[in-house]
Amino acid sequence: IKSLAKKAGKSAKTVNAGAVLGAGIMGGGIAYQGASRGTSMVMKDINQDALELGLSEASKLLNKQLDRGRIKGCDMAKILNSIVPSLEYSALAHVDAVVEAVVEHPAVKGKVLAEVEEAVGDNTIITSNTSTISINQLAKSLKDPSRFCGMHFFNPVHRMPLVEIIRGENTSDETIATIVAWAAKMGKSPVVVNDCPGFFVNRVLFPYFGGFTKLLADGVDFERIDRIMEKQFGWPMGPAYLLDVVGLDTAHHAQAVMAEGFPERMAKEGSDAIDLMFENKRFGQKNGHGFYQYT
Ligand code: NAD
Repeated sequence: IKSLAKKAGKSAKTVNAGAVLGAGIMGGGIAYQGASRGTSMVMKDINQDALELGLSEASKLLNKQLDRGRIKGCDMAKILNSIVPSLEYSALAHVDAVVEAVVEHPAVKGKVLAEVEEAVGDNTIITSNTSTISINQLAKSLKDPSRFCGMHFFNPVHRMPLVEIIRGENTSDETIATIVAWAAKMGKSPVVVNDCPGFFVNRVLFPYFGGFTKLLADGVDFERIDRIMEKQFGWPMGPAYLLDVVGLDTAHHAQAVMAEGFPERMAKEGSDAIDLMFENKRFGQKNGHGFYQYT
């Protein structure tokens, strides 16, 4: 991290104005994190309800900080006002960097990234919060891939320190340095990784979910697995709860991309519990129904 910070110091540009595409679990969290650490954030979605939900989540997190005496009422108002919700691309005209955080579909992301490139200035850095899709593949949607890289936050954004910064084959050093510095400004620990499906963390996590779904197929109860992993093994959450937090729709898409990228390691025979949950629209905490019930 030290050498990255040094390199970042050399050629990094400061991101004062940022934007996030998608106001869902991740987009809302990234907008909050950026705004609470001094970056004004445009939050763009195609859905007004999503924008309102994103803002209300930010407001909830700020209220918690207020209750704990970590911020003052005036800071809360200032931070909330620095998140600007929008349904229009024109709001992106003057930002220094963008994080794309729309649904995990290569075609949707490709289209959105191309639209973003048309909407922003020539020097704006464009990043994607994709969990699994190749950065080189996404870069093909852009005219200038040198100003594009992955910026992969983890859920919940305000609590998870790690951000994977993914270097594509055409990403410039200045792009990496600027995004490393922005992640550090947001209070995060950036790690630069090479491009491949799943990058670093999901290459570790998805084989673990694969082990979990195989145990379920063997007839082991998911709550028992969670209890053992949490109470006896000591992890903060078991795999079923973690999947509910991640979102079963996101996990389902991610799993397919990983299987395509690493068929020899990640392909599975037939459906597993993640497919089943997805088909039954049990998306986890985001819609109140997952392995556990939240409503
Ligand atoms: P989500 O379903 O909660 O939110 C996606 C949002 O994108 C929705 O509000 C939707 O209205 C919006 N959207 C769809 N098309 C759009 C468009 N054309 N323009 C603007 N907004 C659009 O999804 P999420 O869980 O926040 O995931 C978003 C991205 O972050 C995905 O790429 C996912 O893989 C990645 N990610 C997710 C997690 C996680 O734990 N959920 C963790 C790390 C990374």
